[in-house]
Amino acid sequence: MEDGLPITLAPTSSTCPRCHALHNARFYGPCEQCRSQLKETMGATARHIEVAEYVPKMNVTPNAVATKDD
Ligand SMILES: [Zn+2]
Repeated sequence: MEDGLPITLAPTSSTCPRCHALHNARFYGPCEQCRSQLKETMGATARHIEVAEYVPKMNVTPNAVATKDD
């Protein structure tokens, strides 16, 4: 696949997109420190979403095709 994106599978130095610190990572991404921080943040967010109740929309508007008079 030639999509123009250089993919390096070997462990290499990459820059953390979050704190811009050089770290050794197999793939481009946040460093270990940021990753654990993100994990905490996302974990909290996921829990919040889980708790948030999904309220189904009751006033569903019929689509134009269904109401069109032929
Ligand atoms: Zn980082």
